[in-house]
Amino acid sequence: MGSRRAQACFWSRSILIAALGLVSVSLLGMSDCGGKPETAFLAGDDGEIMIARVLIKDTRTNCWVVWKKIRRRAIVIDPGGAPQSIERFLKRHDLELAAVVHTHGHWDHIRGTRELVREKNAHVYQHPEMVELTRGGDESLLDGITPRELSDGDALSLGGVELTVIHTPGHSPGSICLLIENKGADVAYTMFSGDLLFKMGVGRTDFEGGSRTELRKSLNERIAHLPDQTRVLPGHGPETMLGDERENNLLMK
Ligand SMILES: [Zn+2]
Ligand SMILES: [Zn+2]
Repeated sequence: MGSRRAQACFWSRSILIAALGLVSVSLLGMSDCGGKPETAFLAGDDGEIMIARVLIKDTRTNCWVVWKKIRRRAIVIDPGGAPQSIERFLKRHDLELAAVVHTHGHWDHIRGTRELVREKNAHVYQHPEMVELTRGGDESLLDGITPRELSDGDALSLGGVELTVIHTPGHSPGSICLLIENKGADVAYTMFSGDLLFKMGVGRTDFEGGSRTELRKSLNERIAHLPDQTRVLPGHGPETMLGDERENNLLMK
């Protein structure tokens, strides 16, 4: 009953944002739907791609679920925990798991992967330089998983969704951002920034393999070609626009 209500609410908002068009799509709080807060966005050509957030409560990690409306095959970016909640989300929206992508290897972004992909025909993608960070001596969270490797500039098609990989080290060596092009829309790109860039913040560099110099390079060179009208969906916290961060985020300068 509850989930049906949540689903109805999610889709009525989807229709609403479709009606508004990409130009005016903004952050849509779902807290009035009851249950877990979810945030819905449209991306891609003609808004044919849906993006929703499953918030991993204990670490406040944003796990992003991305799918093409007509394909019903979802990419899960950074399943940092709560695999049952992610499963429930997929089920509720009639989605099959197509792939998991890690923006980097910190435990708050990969903790739910093993359980999520178990007994499913879904590959896990990550950068080969990814350094796994567990909590104080834990065994690997990715035991039994053979990931597929991603390189800078790769154009992926997962579940029918086209994504471009940008290698953005600094927060950790194998950190990546993922980009969806929104052709013909005012918001030119949607970027999943992992822990590189947050609203008015940047990722820490004091973990293993972190480098402040690399982080600055990633921010000021590796994503410099992207227009201000790039929606940034970070690994933690609210969405932002790249132009706003360039203007106001002192850590980007
Ligand atoms: Zn991290
Ligand atoms: Zn994180």
